[in-house]
Amino acid sequence: MERILPNLYRMEIPLPKNPLKALNSYVVTSPERNLVIDTGWNQKECMDAMRAGLKELEIDIKNTDFFITHLHTDHLGLVSNLVTESSTIYFNQPDADRIKSGIFLDDLMAFARLNGFPEEELQAVPHTHPGFKFRSKGQLDFHILKEGDTLHISDYVFRCVETPGHTKGHMCLYEPTKKILVAGDHILGDITPTITLWSEEGNPLKEYLESLDKVSRLDIEVVLPGHRDILGNPRGRIQELKDHHRKRLDEIVSILAEGKKNAFQVASRMTWDILYDSWDVFPVSQKWFAVGEAISHLKYLEEKGLVRREMAQQKIRYSLNT
Ligand SMILES: [Zn+2]
Repeated sequence: MERILPNLYRMEIPLPKNPLKALNSYVVTSPERNLVIDTGWNQKECMDAMRAGLKELEIDIKNTDFFITHLHTDHLGLVSNLVTESSTIYFNQPDADRIKSGIFLDDLMAFARLNGFPEEELQAVPHTHPGFKFRSKGQLDFHILKEGDTLHISDYVFRCVETPGHTKGHMCLYEPTKKILVAGDHILGDITPTITLWSEEGNPLKEYLESLDKVSRLDIEVVLPGHRDILGNPRGRIQELKDHHRKRLDEIVSILAEGKKNAFQVASRMTWDILYDSWDVFPVSQKWFAVGEAISHLKYLEEKGLVRREMAQQKIRYSLNT
């Protein structure tokens, strides 16, 4: 438990056996209602850490509401075990729609197959992917917030800032007087937020780059990210994140210069900042993220007119548009 400012705390919720290591859950306390921002997976270690943190702050869960930055299970998963009859879960419409329409594993796996994911590795995905293992249980009632809406807690007035990219509905909270941004997974410090695409629709990388520009126009002194350390003025980090994706796009162009490839093959040739010697020994869950990331970049290049997509023998293949 770390006190950041008066009535504003950070709790570290462990994410065992995951490269992210932990989730930052932020708590804003007030005599009326408390607010917990992001929660952790729906599993025991997360629940234990959350309980211990709330106890330390002497928080009554009955007087507590929740704000969830985006639908990923490390942020949303545990909320179903924390809500009481009186609590409100603040959330965004696009991610709520995504949950409501159902995230069907079969659809994702069919799309992965089209993109060259090998069958035997694909069969391991449901058992290894935290998104499927630790999701929230039951149906959640959300109070939907949109751009410009505000949340008043203690002497904080948080303004909602829509930042699509990491997910379709990702939302940050900005406190203009205190110059704080609760960033979720939009801006992280020593790791790069994943930008993945698992369907025919959308161009999440384009949206993400636009959302970075949007946030860089805000006056921010402290960034409270969803994982790892708290950051200062984010403009330098935003530039690094943009450069990172620019480099990735260039790398993919040079990989495709050697000939047509599917997204799995492209991902296997890209540079990943991960502690494994070669692509072959990546855990399946990491390959899954890598391929999703390759697809979002290929889609960006395709919409820019630099890359062409074709279907051959039940596989989507990409080549340079020369
Ligand atoms: Zn996330």
